[in-house]
Amino acid sequence: MFRKILIANRGEIAVRVIRACKELGIQSVAVYSEADRDALHVQLADEAVCIGAPPSTESYLNIPHILMAAQITGAEAIHPGYGYLSERASFAEACATQGIKFIGPPPDAIRQMGDKSLARAIARRTGAPVLPGTEHALQSEDEAVAAARQIGFPLLIKAAAGGGGRGIRRVMSEDELLPALRIAQSEAQAAFGSPEVYLEKYIPEPRHIEVQILADEYGKVLHLFERECSIQNPRHQKMIEEAPAPNLRPETRRALGDAAVKVAQAVGYQNAGTIEFLMDANENFYFIEMNTRLQVEHPVTEAITDIDIVQWQIRIAAGEPLPFEQDDITIRGHAIEARLTAEIPEQDFTPSTGRISEWTPPGGPGVRVDSHLYTGYSIPPYYDPLLAKIIVHAPTRDQAVARLQRALHETRIAGVQTCRDFLLRIAHSEEFRAGTVSTPFVPRLLKGRVAGGVR
Ligand code: ADP
Repeated sequence: MFRKILIANRGEIAVRVIRACKELGIQSVAVYSEADRDALHVQLADEAVCIGAPPSTESYLNIPHILMAAQITGAEAIHPGYGYLSERASFAEACATQGIKFIGPPPDAIRQMGDKSLARAIARRTGAPVLPGTEHALQSEDEAVAAARQIGFPLLIKAAAGGGGRGIRRVMSEDELLPALRIAQSEAQAAFGSPEVYLEKYIPEPRHIEVQILADEYGKVLHLFERECSIQNPRHQKMIEEAPAPNLRPETRRALGDAAVKVAQAVGYQNAGTIEFLMDANENFYFIEMNTRLQVEHPVTEAITDIDIVQWQIRIAAGEPLPFEQDDITIRGHAIEARLTAEIPEQDFTPSTGRISEWTPPGGPGVRVDSHLYTGYSIPPYYDPLLAKIIVHAPTRDQAVARLQRALHETRIAGVQTCRDFLLRIAHSEEFRAGTVSTPFVPRLLKGRVAGGVR
């Protein structure tokens, strides 16, 4: 096992990884920008190194400074968290060159799945259902028109290197196609450093269902069942996730797990990863992409499987084989996570910053809060708006929903505007309580077209 790990991230996920290190008896090294001197992850780690100016490009994305921090402190491994450098194959390679273990998949797996059009081709070859679309980056406008006619409208133009809900553009008809394509290519170049885009058939009211994978370095690939992540803001950012997916036929659940394992095997996957699918009302599901890292919403899977995914990421990277088999992993109850963010949903999710004058998180049976907040903490304006993840676990979904409502009511935060009241509206809506939401749910709720209300 490692003696010391550096965490190349900030916020709640840095805190989460430090907690895993402490429970495994591993020393932790935090890195921080000049804006994060007073951050909780800096206080909780055994050591902390300042790696640059507040903008992420100068600190949390600054590969030479992060590697230097690892050298100076003698860290043997780096956990990248999610976002930032977690899906940069070149960073994983740079770690290896320095003799530092990257806690994540092999660079080749990151690279293959990082091209979302190539990922579709890989998934299709394993037999997984894939939506009609193109399986390499579009080479010409003629090819785009021919492919679009075959796929039919509406369709999506997606950036091959896209992520985080960005780089997706809907095209309703053929006359919109070429103007949209040109805009999509230049936006993809600006946002992701690559103009490559591909086409994919649009599904009108899909559910987003994803499967958690754990794979060791000896070829064993297991799935930890699915999560439902259909509650997304209009920019496709997830707001509430749950495990297992509600109202799912057992045969669909089995088929999802099998498909996900095969996709992971096809790229020689190691460590934790997530295969994402869209599903229609008849439970037909289609691969859309793989995230080759830890997901924000991993705690709901931890709750229902009783498997500590972050600790296993570390143990797998240290060379431990997975000691359990697929049949040993079972679903225990129901878990739901709500993302408390410093955003104002009613104002187009405008971010808010400020000094937290009160933070009283919820507690009691079945409630877990993953957060970097404390009373008196000032939220820097440079980073992600995520403040806390409120995770509830209960024997049944109905009990979990009631627990989520209770936990959100209990949450007290002042000094910054948050989405708490909006989360409460979701939690009390009839559709959410019935477990029948699809991705247009939040946009509809914002327009006031959803039944149910806060008691
Ligand atoms: P990202 O890599 O940015 O997360 P994804 O390809 O995973 O992008 O898609 C993010 C979200 O966009 C999905 O969860 C879904 O809400 C929506 N979406 C993506 N592809 C489609 C599609 N073909 N039809 C309808 N909605 C889609």
